[in-house]
Amino acid sequence: MTSSLISSRIAHGKASELLAKASAEFSAKLAQTKTLLQRAAAEYAPVTQASSLGAEDMVITHLINSLQLDIPVFVLETGALHTETLALLERTQAHSQAPIVVYRPEQASVMQFVRNKGQDAIYKSIELRKECCGLRKMAPLDRALQGQRAWITGLRQEQSNARADVPLQDDAELATKKISKFNPLAQWTWGDVWHYIATNAVDYNPLHDQFFPSIGCAPCTRAISLGEEFRAGRWWWEDEAAKECGLHVKK
Ligand code: SF4
Repeated sequence: MTSSLISSRIAHGKASELLAKASAEFSAKLAQTKTLLQRAAAEYAPVTQASSLGAEDMVITHLINSLQLDIPVFVLETGALHTETLALLERTQAHSQAPIVVYRPEQASVMQFVRNKGQDAIYKSIELRKECCGLRKMAPLDRALQGQRAWITGLRQEQSNARADVPLQDDAELATKKISKFNPLAQWTWGDVWHYIATNAVDYNPLHDQFFPSIGCAPCTRAISLGEEFRAGRWWWEDEAAKECGLHVKK
């Protein structure tokens, strides 16, 4: 099959049908993920899930609900999300038993940044882009994590070179910030994620059907082409090494 034909099929297909392909160890990985979430809820309360509403995070929220765990979920609504993501947020709030708490940036700081640095500042330098991430994501994240003993993320080793060593439990910030991070899908493949979504009818962002594997803010996310890296559509105008917003950067 030619690559253009494959692209066209993917562009017109549903991600849950095209991408679902469980790895040989999927059952063991799923059992390990459930055990880890149960342990986080039992031994690390208060613990919360950080959800970007991406495919991985929708799987984790689904597991939290189906296991009836006392783990609230928070979403950073940056003020620059796609309409599809905002619609998914509304649907998730309506259907999740676990509370979905929304954190927004301080409006005055964002307006001051846009007024002083310009509407397109994020494309002008990495420093300005990171300043925007600082205002819209990092400051709300700090508020969301206040008083928590642990947080849960959808990081996977397969997502990028920078994430290749992501552990299931990360205590790197335990001494400084007194918080542990759980990455229960660390060893899942992209096919595993979609296998879970397809077999459990998990709701997901329709942008995934349009070749957006990794979804962030609208101005900083584009679709990827066949053969491009998983996170190639995030901050695509920057060097590979700079491609994190700060949420998961190791000091
Ligand atoms: S991802 Fe883009 S729009 Fe969103 S906070 Fe970062 S720089 Fe700003």
